[in-house]
Amino acid sequence: MEDCVFCKIVKGEIPSQKVYENDKVLAFLDINPVNSGHTLVIPKSHHKDLFSTPEEVLSDIIVRTKKIAVAIIKAVGADGVNLGMNNRPAAGQVVFHTHLHIMPRFEGDGLKHWPSKKISEDELVEVQKSIQSNLAE
Ligand code: AMP
Repeated sequence: MEDCVFCKIVKGEIPSQKVYENDKVLAFLDINPVNSGHTLVIPKSHHKDLFSTPEEVLSDIIVRTKKIAVAIIKAVGADGVNLGMNNRPAAGQVVFHTHLHIMPRFEGDGLKHWPSKKISEDELVEVQKSIQSNLAE
């Protein structure tokens, strides 16, 4: 993809701080980290988001993500990691090339999780049934 910033990183057309590379997967530091060591893991092939990424490509990146996360924890002395994936603009996706965020976490680092909503038992059951019926399609 000509205009894709991550494809340009794959091709070496713009610089990045690479931490891992094989023939299918690339990992590099996020330029706007939530904590030191925040890394993006991408397939070298261009896919817009989760939904358009083939299963085998998703397997490649998640398997590598586990190994890279272990190395990040050791490298920066993290106490844990969050994995993140934004899909579609409503979910905050800005770069439309499939990527997983590995975000190192430290005890007391002050980062907050998403706020939760109160939901009734009826609503829970309703959405459960709706998801189940959509999965059955
Ligand atoms: P999102 O699509 O919401 O997952 O956000 C894209 C992420 O890519 C953001 O965290 C950016 O800081 C990061 N990012 C964008 N351009 C670059 C770049 N050239 N090198 C490294 N990280 C980048």
